[in-house]
Amino acid sequence: MKLLYCNDCGDIVALSMDVRTCRCRKSAGCYDINGDDVKVSGPCRVLCLDNRDLAWAKAYRNETAVVKAWVLPKEYRKIVRSEGGE
Ligand SMILES: [Zn+2]
Repeated sequence: MKLLYCNDCGDIVALSMDVRTCRCRKSAGCYDINGDDVKVSGPCRVLCLDNRDLAWAKAYRNETAVVKAWVLPKEYRKIVRSEGGE
């Protein structure tokens, strides 16, 4: 699962097939048609949550779950940036 983190307002938005924007509206993004690559704009970074960890967390609701997360590099093969985002 990929999320957009806006460096300006600190908002985190789950990416979807539709374009979603952060609270300050400077950053926006969505999944590409392939459902894996993302298109983003504005002063943002892309965060990833481990899908297997999330599935486990959903299956074992009564236990605290650790979900691995990481930040993709600003320039990355699965990210298309537009409008000069940082
Ligand atoms: Zn923002």
